[in-house]
Formats: sequence, structure tokens, C-alpha cells
Amino acid sequence: HLEEKVNIDSNDEFKEVAEAFNIMILKLDQVDTQRKDFVANVSHELRTPLTSIKILSESLISGEDFNVDVYKEFLTDIDSEVDRLNNIITDLLTLVDLDKEKLTLDLKITYMNFLLERIYLRLKPLAEKKSIDLELVLNEKIQLKVDNEKIQQAIINIIDNAIKYTQTGGKVKLKLYNEGKYAIIEIKDNGIGIPEENIQNIFERFYRVDKARSRDTGGTGLGLSIAWQIVSLHQGTIEVESKVGVGSTFYIKLPITT
Ligand code: ADP
Repeated sequence: HLEEKVNIDSNDEFKEVAEAFNIMILKLDQVDTQRKDFVANVSHELRTPLTSIKILSESLISGEDFNVDVYKEFLTDIDSEVDRLNNIITDLLTLVDLDKEKLTLDLKITYMNFLLERIYLRLKPLAEKKSIDLELVLNEKIQLKVDNEKIQQAIINIIDNAIKYTQTGGKVKLKLYNEGKYAIIEIKDNGIGIPEENIQNIFERFYRVDKARSRDTGGTGLGLSIAWQIVSLHQGTIEVESKVGVGSTFYIKLPITT
């Protein structure tokens, strides 16, 4: 597109129009590049599990004299690749819905304390599986006007990561408090941490600091971009503090509107 830019050599009103035009072309060009990158990433992410499934099933078909254990092992691998495909597609559909639903949030007055308690009870078993001490601290009663289901998903995605990226026996602490005109949901872990140079990228679609680790834990690379989009739709932000080997703290900041 960029060759369609207008050359500006005047100093009058035409100059302003031409400059605005050039900025618009540049933005269109960026959107186009992002779209192409996204399609390329989706194709790659879907192809990886499909390739594994193909190799595993071909080996089963062509192999002779496999014993039952080998069949079971290969089929278990195929089964987990199918789960992976399913997770990616579910997350992609969520992103598509969020794009479409920009103006149709189902906003309702929500007692955030209850919401967090519900999330806590839901994720406790997941934490217990890794002997992670999941703690919930609720000091203040906070009401917000939010889309209950969506905010729940954003919070769950971040807690789910905190559990995923924290070693067995670690700790994840959830807190809810007021700070000026914002309600803060704080999710603090003492896990592997995020290198400083990667923090700015973690909300991008399909970005992972360590692809292998994310894959092993069933990650799709879309959880944080979904959370970011949901919180942005509520005019909120997500901030991160992290140190490798020490842990990470995510702050979901939501405006208090009455
Ligand atoms: P994934 O499905 O890979 O977890 P996300 O979008 O949820 O994708 O997160 C993107 C990346 O950010 C992860 O792959 C991981 O590298 C990093 N990350 C997110 N949360 C944490 C955390 N609590 N501790 C360490 N790394 C994290």
C-alpha cells in the first residue's frame, strides 16, 4: 500500500489532507500485515498438532506386530493432540466473538467478592493437583458493573497461568482491593517469572516465552490476549511485574462506575 502514498510538496490545506491520507494508508497497511501474520500463525498452530497426529496414525497403520501397550501409547498421544486442537479452536472462536461483541457487553452490577470466591473454589482443585497453595484475600466489598462471564474468563486465564508457570509446592495469592477509581484484582505467584524483554509481548496472540513449556502444559498462547481484550472492553488495563526465578504479579485494573 505504501507506494500509494501522496507526495506532499505544498504548504496549504492540501498538505493537511494529504498528510491525513498518508497516515490512514499507513494504518491500513499495519492492519493488513497484522491480519496476514495472524492467519499465518493460526495455520502454523493448527498444523503442528495435525502433523503429529498424521505421523502417529501412519506409524500405527504401517507398523507390524505392535503390542497393545504401543497402540495405547500412540493413541494417548493422538488423543492429547486432538485436545490441543480443540483448545486452540475454542480460544480462536472466543477471540472472534470478542471482536464481534465490542458493543454488546452484558453489563450487570456484580459483587466482585462473590465472583472471586467462585473462581477460587473452581480453581482450587487444579492448584491442589500441583500442591500449590492457592490463597484468596478479600478485605473490601467491591461492586462493579461488568460482564460477569467475560470478566470471570479473564481472571481465570491469568490464575490458570499463575498455576501453570509455578513449580509444584509453590504459592499463588489472589487479592481484591480499591485503589482510587479502580478496583484491582491482584494475582501473585512465586513461579518461573518472565524475562523483562518479553513482558511487552506476552499479550500478543500466540506469543509464548517458552513454546515447549507452554505446549507441555496445554497452553494455546491465546489466554492472555483474550484476557487483555476482555479487560480493555471494560475500559480497564492489565499490568505485570515479574522477575525470573522469583515470580510474577498481574494486576487487573477495572474502573469503578456506578
Ligand atoms: P499460554 O497458553 O502459552 O499460557 P498465554 O497467552 O496465557 O499463553 O501466555 C503467554 C505467555 O506468557 C506464556 O506462554 C508464558 O510464557 C508467559 N506467562 C504468562 N503468565 C505467566 C506467569 N504467571 N508466569 C510466567 N510466565 C507467564
